[in-house]
Amino acid sequence: MRIGNGYDFHRLVEGRPLILGGIEIPYHLGLLGHSDADLLTHAITDALLGAACLGDIGQHFPPSDPQWKGVSSLLLLEKVLELVHAKDFTLSNVDAVVVAERPKLAAHIPGIRESLSKVLGLPVDRLSVKATTQEGLGPIGEGLAMACYAVVLLNEPQPILAM
Ligand code: MG
Repeated sequence: MRIGNGYDFHRLVEGRPLILGGIEIPYHLGLLGHSDADLLTHAITDALLGAACLGDIGQHFPPSDPQWKGVSSLLLLEKVLELVHAKDFTLSNVDAVVVAERPKLAAHIPGIRESLSKVLGLPVDRLSVKATTQEGLGPIGEGLAMACYAVVLLNEPQPILAM
C-alpha cells in the first residue's frame, strides 16, 4: 500500500462562495483562490499525488495558467485520479479534517461525502470527512482562514506471479 498526505490553507474573504468538497455551503464569506479554492478537494488531490509520487497540485495546475481560473476543483481531482489509475493504483480510503472556526460544518458533511464519493468512485464508508475548530486562536480561530489535512491510502498494482 501507499500512503499520501495533503494540506491546504486559504483565506476567507467577502464576495466569494464557500465551496467544500464541491458543495456550496451557505456563509457570508468564501475561500480566496485561483480556482474555486475548495481546500478540502485540494488537500485530497495533493494526498493522491503524494501517494502515487506524482508531484503536487501546484505543478499540475499552476495558478499562472488561465485555464484553471474559477474552475471546479472536482475537475482537478478527477484529472489526478486518472493519473493515479494510469499507474494502476486503486484508492482504498480517504480521511480528511477541515479546520474552521465558522460556519459549523457538521450538517453539511453527509452532502460533502456524497459529492466526493461520486468523483472518487469510492463508497462513503471509505471516505471520512471531519471538522474541527482552532479554539478561537490564530487566523483560523479568528475566522480569517480555513485549513484542511487529508490522508489517502492507495493499493499498489498486484505483481503478476509466475506459475
Ligand atoms: Mg488550495
